[in-house]
Amino acid sequence: MSELTQLTLKAALDGLASKAFSSEEITREHIAAIEKARSLNAYVLETPEKALEMARASDGRRAKGHAGRLEGAPLGIKDLFCTEGVRSTACSNIIGNFVPTYESSVTANLWRDGAVMLGKLNMDEFAMGSSNETSAFGPVVNPWKSGASNADLTPGGSSGGSASAVAGDLCLAATASDTGGSIRQPAAFTGTVGVKPTYGRASRFGMVAFASSLDQAGPIAKTVEDAAILLRSMCSFDPKDSTSLDVDTPDWTQSLGKGVKGLRIGVPKEYVVDGMPAEIQALWDQGVQWLKAAGAEIVEISLPHTKYALPAYYIIAPAEASSNLARYDGMRFGHRAETASSLTDLYETSRAEGFGKEVQRRLTIGAYVLSAGFYDAYYVRALKVRRRIAMDFDAVCDRVDAILTPSTPSAAFAIGDRQIDPLQMYLNDIFTVTANLAGLPGISVPAGLDKGGLPLGLQVIGKALDEATVFQVADVLEQSAGFTARPEKWW
Ligand code: GLN
Repeated sequence: MSELTQLTLKAALDGLASKAFSSEEITREHIAAIEKARSLNAYVLETPEKALEMARASDGRRAKGHAGRLEGAPLGIKDLFCTEGVRSTACSNIIGNFVPTYESSVTANLWRDGAVMLGKLNMDEFAMGSSNETSAFGPVVNPWKSGASNADLTPGGSSGGSASAVAGDLCLAATASDTGGSIRQPAAFTGTVGVKPTYGRASRFGMVAFASSLDQAGPIAKTVEDAAILLRSMCSFDPKDSTSLDVDTPDWTQSLGKGVKGLRIGVPKEYVVDGMPAEIQALWDQGVQWLKAAGAEIVEISLPHTKYALPAYYIIAPAEASSNLARYDGMRFGHRAETASSLTDLYETSRAEGFGKEVQRRLTIGAYVLSAGFYDAYYVRALKVRRRIAMDFDAVCDRVDAILTPSTPSAAFAIGDRQIDPLQMYLNDIFTVTANLAGLPGISVPAGLDKGGLPLGLQVIGKALDEATVFQVADVLEQSAGFTARPEKWW
């Protein structure tokens, strides 16, 4: 049997359970596919030997009648999850060749459930970016091409390696993380499904920190069902993360097939933004029609502080980053300057050489907004705006069960296209940051193609801890869209 790599996670788990193929077989096929796809630059570290060892161990467990929820499934891991004994860099030179002596809680949960690690996936440096171009390992290439040109496109970011690997069949599904949109935007750009759960559902222990009050792990997968399966394994209460929620992790596949009859879906008027391409509006209208046709009630809502979300995010996230990244001083691991005249000079030079441009920009902004003279004017004010944004959602939560918006204001763009103007790049997050600021769950589902044949996504935002409804709505969108387009294999 060839093309095991094209299976969904669900189909692969079924095939493994029925012994149609072994974990070793499906893992080998993925390893071969990864070798042929190096031009996509999705993996920054391939771990084929470890993968085969894990696959054989999985086959052994299954032969003895023990099978975890992800038993034998080969997955890709974003390089910001620390993996014991396996280099973990967050794609930054300052972390260098760091080999953790411990495992992140999210990945530990996956191995507990029997999954197999294929390798570490490329990402924007410290997850700062929307195009994977800030990675110390170079940009990731999107498997999709626009009919209009042969240019290499970005898969989005920061989880660009995860998105590209899933879209290119280089893993059955992947872990990712989302601080302002880094799961949902790359999912939208690659025709995949990405979920950011409620803040606190997935442990941040062992994840390289960017902005701790916003960072959340989640899956990028081929289908809504696959995302539900992987998310369940990723989430757990973890005493090692002080913001981890002590709540049960439900089986979200139970939400699928329920339909949306009687559900109230909010459509926020403030998400109609200036200069939004007509095809994004058309896709959103289409989504509304699908949900209406499936029996949902559409409710126009107002989230009045939406326009302040992006500026607030780009104050809060850099502020937290400047604090979190203060630990990288060239002393304990990673890059250290060759020559320095004093200890302070060593810190400064190591940091100037080790961090990339975008990270430096964020650290500078962060240090500025936290400095004594500007703290109240910027940081405290941004926190107040954040509270307002959360209150906007609270105010509508009695009237709607979930909210429908586009995932991104455009389809994937060409590598290099938006590098000159950081503000242009930051606009990518316009529809996604609000869910991070309010701590709410969100999903991006592939829902259509733009005129160049590139995927576009719709986002469903839910109430805190109500991923169940998010999956329920996403399932109907997925069914209605019948999105079967695949990138043509050119790599
Ligand atoms: N694109 C956003 C940023 O650059 C979000 C990144 C993320 O979610 N990690 O900060």
